[in-house]
Amino acid sequence: MEPITPQIEQRVQELRQLVEKASYAYYVLDNPMMEDAVYDRLYRELQALESAYPQLLTPESPTQRVGERPAANFTSVRHKVPLYSLENAFNLEEFAAWQERWRRQAPGINEFEYVCELKIDGSSLALTYENGILVRGATRGDGTMGEDITQNVRTIRSIPLRLAADAPTMVEVRGEAFLPLDVFAQSNREREQAGEALFANPRNAAAGTLRQLDSRKVAKRKLDFFAYTLHIPGQEDLAVAPTQWESLELLQKLGFRVNPHRQLCPSVAEVQAYYDRWNTERLSLAYMTDGVVVKINSLKLQAELGFTQKFPRWAVALKYPAEEAPTKVVGVTVQVGRTGALTPVAELQPVQLAGTTVSRASLHNSDRLTQLDLHIGDTVIVRKAGEIIPEVVRVLPELRPAHAQRFQMPSVCPECQQPVIRPTGEAVTRCINSSCPAILRGALIHWASREALDINGLGDKLVLQMVDKKLVQSVADLYELTANSLLSLERMGKKLAEKLIGAIAESKTQPWERVLYGLGIRHVGSVNAQLLTQKFPNVEAIAAASPAQIEAVYGIGPEIAQAVHQWFQLPANQSLIERLQATGIQLASQETAANQAGEKNLPLAGKIFVVTGTLPTLKRDEAKALIQKAGGKVTDSVSAKTNYLVVGEDAGSKLKKAQQLGIAQLTEAQLLEML
Ligand code: AMP
Ligand code: ZN
Repeated sequence: MEPITPQIEQRVQELRQLVEKASYAYYVLDNPMMEDAVYDRLYRELQALESAYPQLLTPESPTQRVGERPAANFTSVRHKVPLYSLENAFNLEEFAAWQERWRRQAPGINEFEYVCELKIDGSSLALTYENGILVRGATRGDGTMGEDITQNVRTIRSIPLRLAADAPTMVEVRGEAFLPLDVFAQSNREREQAGEALFANPRNAAAGTLRQLDSRKVAKRKLDFFAYTLHIPGQEDLAVAPTQWESLELLQKLGFRVNPHRQLCPSVAEVQAYYDRWNTERLSLAYMTDGVVVKINSLKLQAELGFTQKFPRWAVALKYPAEEAPTKVVGVTVQVGRTGALTPVAELQPVQLAGTTVSRASLHNSDRLTQLDLHIGDTVIVRKAGEIIPEVVRVLPELRPAHAQRFQMPSVCPECQQPVIRPTGEAVTRCINSSCPAILRGALIHWASREALDINGLGDKLVLQMVDKKLVQSVADLYELTANSLLSLERMGKKLAEKLIGAIAESKTQPWERVLYGLGIRHVGSVNAQLLTQKFPNVEAIAAASPAQIEAVYGIGPEIAQAVHQWFQLPANQSLIERLQATGIQLASQETAANQAGEKNLPLAGKIFVVTGTLPTLKRDEAKALIQKAGGKVTDSVSAKTNYLVVGEDAGSKLKKAQQLGIAQLTEAQLLEML
């Protein structure tokens, strides 16, 4: 190990503070204080110093948010102070009754006020800090025992790993981890593209993500956190924060994100106004809320009132009007998606929910069905919230009619009658018949979609008819249609038919990356398609590539590489490509071809570099810029893909790794010569 000088130690401290501050400004305050590039530079400098001087590494360093390897399981932990649930009130009368109850219990109290907070719909967490350092993050569990998910909690950027200065020695913080709605929608889109089962709602998505064993996957999901409770053991006199309101302010000072829409309310009338206001304004929030939480502000009064078996007596959740309602299941239909996934859907007696009429609700997949033990005729609770897909949350078996039949997933595809499969370990049942009309319809709709070939006028209804009438049996058939052949379709005139044929013909000019995306290969969304087409300038190249060659593309993982490779191995897909080639579709990139010809002349084209240690004359950034200008790429860590390691003085672990992997080393002088 290299000896550490006081200067190095000081620089590491300095960098940590800067990175923490910047990250706080970005994630908690929503008010970035520096350019991303500057942040990256500081972060990397810190990373480099820590890898050169591993003795300096501490778990609360901002570089340590994501773990290296998945956890084998989570251990149970006992909460020092139990996490209680909240009593519900569904309207102002119930709220007033709750107030009556606690006032009877504390008859001497004449002055009091409430703090109203939004009730965030996520998953609650208990965080423990010792000497200002995050030492544990746990789920609520049953309230007494939770699971230790510290590794995952660390990936949430708005949770400080280290509290702001002069924090009390021991601090317990509670709050809600949640997925912002756009992140939720995005992850469902990705899951849909990847042919995976969708998350029912942000709450389930947050809870599921937190219990994911691989913290690297958690980090990708972009969870966020609002803190709402502060416990300081040994502070019975409550001198630091005598009220909930002051607790929230202190939490904010300690570095947490605290929801800004809190309000002090001295009376029921103010509580009502707050509740009414947020019942409409919640629709414009970036996250989901399912009510407001009203808490007695004085912590002294809170302590006096205490807890029932399940709830604090000093707080109540005032829920928004029912987004859950009971209704009857009149039948179950099974839909087949673009990827062949079978989704059972409950057909319901129509019911009013969250301002809309709901007559169908998703049952998600076979696992979920088994869990619910759904019978046709059952009375169920359906739930709908905001833009979330209506879903069946629970069955009421006590209301089940005699002789009701349990619903079972069919063993053949309802569209093509071919046997379906359910891969072991997967919740999804699938049809894998590539000429299944459902899959064909999905393939056509995807092909014509805006991000793919963008064929104007070719929508769901037309596709449905075309497939029904067997006008097209693959996307290639689209290019053989004539205006006349379309006239047999409903509501199709000569003019419209010609326009559609024109739009189809025009799609032949769409670039290769859109075509690759349009093929609908599993895991190949538009971003991956772009990455792939940058490296594989034509279809021949990608079809001939081995999984390892595909995985060598920056940003492409093994699962994607496998899926791509397998797709091109299938004879049916190979003949599809041949037919597409004959139509004149773009199966090669024009710009990339031209660019590459230019780039190829650059001296470092296609080479990957890592720089380590202190170079004699060049700063690390300067070296990086020079390499990039010459067509090379610079990455942070040494891997088998690295071509050269540029080594300066005091090189550390990267040099060792490069030696192990047998990667060529360069001095600064040698690098300059290559340039
Ligand atoms: P429920 O799960 O519906 O019984 O509601 C209780 C849960 O609401 C608590 O366990 C917390 O996870 C959550 N919650 C969300 N926002 C707040 C808040 N501002 N204060 C207290 N609890 C909250
Ligand atoms: Zn089928």
